[in-house]
Amino acid sequence: MIKRFILVTLCLFAFPSRAQDLPQASPVPGGVAIVALGADAPAPRAFFDDRRVLVAPCQDGWCAIVGLALGTKPGEHTLMVKRDADQTERHFTVEPKQYEVQRLVIKEKNLVDPNAEELKRYQRDRAATARALGTWSDNVPTLRLALPVQGRYSSPFGLQRYFNGQARAPHSGMDLAAPEGTPIRAPAAGTVIETGNYFFNGNTVFIDHGQGLITMYNHLRVIQVQRGAQLKTGDKIGEVGHTGRVTGAHLHWAVSLNSSLVDPLLFLAPETLNAPGAKR
Ligand code: ZN
Repeated sequence: MIKRFILVTLCLFAFPSRAQDLPQASPVPGGVAIVALGADAPAPRAFFDDRRVLVAPCQDGWCAIVGLALGTKPGEHTLMVKRDADQTERHFTVEPKQYEVQRLVIKEKNLVDPNAEELKRYQRDRAATARALGTWSDNVPTLRLALPVQGRYSSPFGLQRYFNGQARAPHSGMDLAAPEGTPIRAPAAGTVIETGNYFFNGNTVFIDHGQGLITMYNHLRVIQVQRGAQLKTGDKIGEVGHTGRVTGAHLHWAVSLNSSLVDPLLFLAPETLNAPGAKR
């Protein structure tokens, strides 16, 4: 009996991150593909579109957790897998997905049609965002995220949006509507890698959780962390506001894997979806 107990304990330690801790697999544009890489130690390195991809322990040994940007074409895709001098390919299929259409009316015309100076600022913001989302650190991240704010799930990821009748980039995060000043908390441990005030996104915080898993928080009333801060799950990073291009106080929350913005819902525990904060 004692022997059996020890054996079970050792198994748990051998696979610290169990299969149920992975995000929900959803191999569609804006989703996450989970690709088995075999069980040989140590963990291989995997690359998608020349970008390093998160590799986590899973039921089959190692799995690549691949972020699929909204612009990913449905069909067969290739993952490059490297172990020492060995390089192999793994193939996986991306299925098509049709997202809903949303039409918004924005009264402040310059937020829809920025002038030349604002456009320049937007380009700087975009470069800073791409740099932050491209961060790689070797920390092993938690792949189950807590909801960063208690609020109403007001707008899902992937909506095809029209502002005042003009087509704009699809919605690349999840909106949680909450009163101005509602605390925003780190959904998992991580490091604050960037903060800033951006034209469209307002007051913004980026958290690096490790291996290319980056979360972004927009439209904050106030930012209460500085670059370099080490966070635990639940640490306060700021408060809900309406800075930037918004129609009301809410948190725009984005999750990025290998520089690809994906649906944050895939990282929430199923029970979270039934919580008040996750209701649409
Ligand atoms: Zn949003």
